[in-house]
Amino acid sequence: MESSGNSGPLIALNGDTLKAVVKTQAEWEAALSQKAFYVLRQDGTERAFTGAYWDNKEEGLYVCAGCGLPLFSSETKFRSGTGWPSFWKPVAESNVKLVKDRKLGMVRTEVECARCGGHQGHVFEDGPKPTGLRYCINSVSMDFKPGEKFEVNLK
Ligand code: FE
Repeated sequence: MESSGNSGPLIALNGDTLKAVVKTQAEWEAALSQKAFYVLRQDGTERAFTGAYWDNKEEGLYVCAGCGLPLFSSETKFRSGTGWPSFWKPVAESNVKLVKDRKLGMVRTEVECARCGGHQGHVFEDGPKPTGLRYCINSVSMDFKPGEKFEVNLK
């Protein structure tokens, strides 16, 4: 596995910087639902159009279901037609870790939570402007915080 360079602090909702969350697989399994464990800790994928958020149009913040780190905002969510929540940018580049994934005979870029390493989904280069990126994320790996805001640079 190769990781992309990723500097900067992990940023909490209140602007505090956060420490990494490290747990054993057994601890994660005890802490998470079966589906969340499968996605977050076993790199699984929920079936398209089955998650809670693919069609969520509410304003708010999406945080990691494993550790609470803010990951995505409704401000950068878009309708992709894929059946998974899709965003063109994370709340902060330093809050996600991008990892080359060669599973399934393809080279893809995996998106992990930078705080706990939980698998969130993949990022593709067929997204809308201004980034051209499509962060294709599982619902079950995130919790939605309605009305919460995070200062996102929308450029
Ligand atoms: Fe996390």
